[in-house]
Amino acid sequence: MFRTKYLFWSLLFAFVASLPVNIFGDDRPNILVIVADDLGYADLGFQGCKDIPTPHLDGLAKSGVTCTNGYVTHPFCSPTRAALLTGRYQQRFGHENNPAWLPEDRVAGLPLSETPLPSVLRTKGYATGCVGKWHLGAHPSFHPNRRGFEYYYGALGGGHIYLEGLKGNNEYTIPMNRNGEGEPLKGYITTVFGQEASEYIKKSQPKPWFLYLAFNAPHTPLQSTPELQQRVSHIESKERRDLAAMIVGMDDAVGEVLSTLDSTGQRENTLVFFFSDNGGPISVTKANNTPLRNGKGSVYEGGIRVPFVVSWPKKLPKDATFEKPVVSLDVFATSVSLSDESNLSSEKIDGVNLIPYLSGQTKESPHDSLFWRTGGGATFAARKGNWKLVGKRGEPAELYDLEKDISEQNNLAASEGERLKQLEQAYEEWNTKNVAPLFESPKQPRKKK
Ligand code: CA
Repeated sequence: MFRTKYLFWSLLFAFVASLPVNIFGDDRPNILVIVADDLGYADLGFQGCKDIPTPHLDGLAKSGVTCTNGYVTHPFCSPTRAALLTGRYQQRFGHENNPAWLPEDRVAGLPLSETPLPSVLRTKGYATGCVGKWHLGAHPSFHPNRRGFEYYYGALGGGHIYLEGLKGNNEYTIPMNRNGEGEPLKGYITTVFGQEASEYIKKSQPKPWFLYLAFNAPHTPLQSTPELQQRVSHIESKERRDLAAMIVGMDDAVGEVLSTLDSTGQRENTLVFFFSDNGGPISVTKANNTPLRNGKGSVYEGGIRVPFVVSWPKKLPKDATFEKPVVSLDVFATSVSLSDESNLSSEKIDGVNLIPYLSGQTKESPHDSLFWRTGGGATFAARKGNWKLVGKRGEPAELYDLEKDISEQNNLAASEGERLKQLEQAYEEWNTKNVAPLFESPKQPRKKK
């Protein structure tokens, strides 16, 4: 009798232990971070774009909060991603340039001293996946599977050709990678990323999951399909059409992912971030950053202020805008706070949990100030309230009032000397905690005219 009872309780215990964690009321949200590559500030419908149809991203914006002062920490690819995944300004640990595609290079990549977000979330019971462009180092020790992601499918370099067989440089033609194994690209890369992300979302439930979906679109090479081109045939300029077709492809892929969230009943309790890794490269493509000044590579607003949406139907307001500055650094702190309220203790983290701000629980500003630095200080910027400092090594600094002058046309450095000094001091203080860049960006081949 005793043995039977023991067996019963043992079996019951084993059964209960095997149940998915959500059965027990684990209502922690899934976290989906969608990053576009080189997307212009004004190249989406909800950002005022008139010529490129982006219904799915517009729908995502409507389902949540559009941050009109949403920033990334760098005006180009890899450093932005380094901060996004660590919650720390990338200058703190020397990741201030793009790593070259050198699989033997143990230095050029996200330093192993850093703990990426998926590593933390894994310890909290989250499933962790990454689909898309990696660009955080080519050496095997930098592979996403070794940086906290249980699952990875994507392109490990800084970009990729969009269809098998198209032209691209060495880095852009390496095989696609699935958990360390190479494989050919099986379709239009943006569409494939949407499908792969959807599959991940289906198979990872009911455990709460974290998925980092990093499109390489609409980064060069500007490659699309006849079908996508057809949908933007109303655009006269061929260059603009080439870009628009890629953005439409990305919007479709986002649509597929959102529809998978809906069909699997996960939309309400999934926190979705969407932003671009930097501003549109207006000297390379026909991206539009209006009304912002300059674009990719610059610390003027056009390089660092990006389309930025946070959607979580269960907890955040819908069709709302938030005007105080937020930054991609906040993804880390927000995600960790939601995974375990007791566990955001590190003073090393630069971002904040955005939920109390976006939900209206507090009216404070999430950040007193934000800072940027490129090339070890070749250019730099600081924002405090509506005031923005822009500097270039060896030249007099500039000062702008973004509230009245979002396009940074009216330099007030001469008339606002005291304010300029305060911002310069704030920047210097921030900069004392930074280190020199650990590696340099690869030299760009000369552009053929
Ligand atoms: Ca980029």
